[in-house]
Amino acid sequence: MNAIIEGALTLAGPGFSPVEDSFLQIEGPKIKTLSDVNLPAFSGTRYDGNGLIAMPGMINAHVHLGDSVVKDIGVGKTMGELVHPITGLKSRILKEVPQKTLVEGMRESLQEMLANGITTIADFRETSLEGLRLLKKAAEGLANRLIALGRPNYYSPPLDINTGVGLPTQIINETERVLQEGNGLGVSGPNEFTDQALVDLSSLASKARKLVAVHVGEARSSAEFSIRTFGSSEVSRALTYLRPHLLVHLVHTTRRDIEKISSSGTSVVCCPRANAILGHGFPPITDLVRLGINVGLGTDNVMLNSCDMFREMDFASKMSRANHRDPNAIKSADVLRMATLGGAKALELEREIGSLEEGKIADIVFLNSRSSNLKFSKDIISSIVHRARPDDIVAVMVKGELVHGSLPRCNNK
Ligand SMILES: [Zn+2]
Repeated sequence: MNAIIEGALTLAGPGFSPVEDSFLQIEGPKIKTLSDVNLPAFSGTRYDGNGLIAMPGMINAHVHLGDSVVKDIGVGKTMGELVHPITGLKSRILKEVPQKTLVEGMRESLQEMLANGITTIADFRETSLEGLRLLKKAAEGLANRLIALGRPNYYSPPLDINTGVGLPTQIINETERVLQEGNGLGVSGPNEFTDQALVDLSSLASKARKLVAVHVGEARSSAEFSIRTFGSSEVSRALTYLRPHLLVHLVHTTRRDIEKISSSGTSVVCCPRANAILGHGFPPITDLVRLGINVGLGTDNVMLNSCDMFREMDFASKMSRANHRDPNAIKSADVLRMATLGGAKALELEREIGSLEEGKIADIVFLNSRSSNLKFSKDIISSIVHRARPDDIVAVMVKGELVHGSLPRCNNK
């Protein structure tokens, strides 16, 4: 679009500095100008932003859309019983669901996320090429920016697990096709692979110049399995052999592992609500932030959680403060950053999205500062983190286009 939104309170830059009465000029997909000075010569459409808060579109950096059609199935069961990639209830049930229903479920979750202000989604897609194609079909024509992380249908045979056996040739070929059709690899966990198979996955992704993400330290049992079987932690094996861009979860981990992550520059994506409902515990978000590790947030399996990053921020922030018995254990701005720029950085998209800055893509959520929920806020960042809800959203913009809701035009313009 070619337009100015004038009068909004815009949260600008990586620090979310509030620019009151802002002039936000959108040209094509990008933010051309972000200023508190009027642009009188501008001839495009002018929208009235008075009473609105402009914040960056949120980035849901870890999702499994594929289980959208089995919401809240098996609550009370363990992770192994529910989502184990080979034996879990989810994989058994999803095999029986018609593809049309799977596509419909994923599509509705994508639409729901857009309405909830989530403009970018990184999905861990199971079932190899078939899974990726179903996901693409589900996303057809929708405005969400979708980062599809696929995986081959393969796990190292248990008898090989501690040997030097790598990926079979046919799986190397399959992984290459997954990498061609998707944005990278979403590996279920290092425990399912030999050291050499992890090295193979890593080099295939790096040859294709695509992302690698992996679950680590989600359950105590998998952390213990790694030590027992390989003599080293999931984090250590992932960093050494798989060399991922981002690690997902990190609930059961050690200080030494966190220090290794910090010195490797790897990002972490935390999914605190998913960890909580599965009874795993809570990720060490405050330690990660204090060590300067880049942290993103994800709502994880749709079967476990609503697609709502406001709820994820609220839970992450309050539980971090509760666990440390310190109301100042984390800053609200740090939590908002996890849901925006932190996710962008984890997905290597921080030059384009994640914050509102001149030259960046215009992925913007406009909130109603006059809603009964947000009116009278004395700390707008904290109110967004701890109080905002999807129904406070007036409009959502992706790549400079309004894709949900609408903005009022300025009078006579
Ligand atoms: Zn996951």
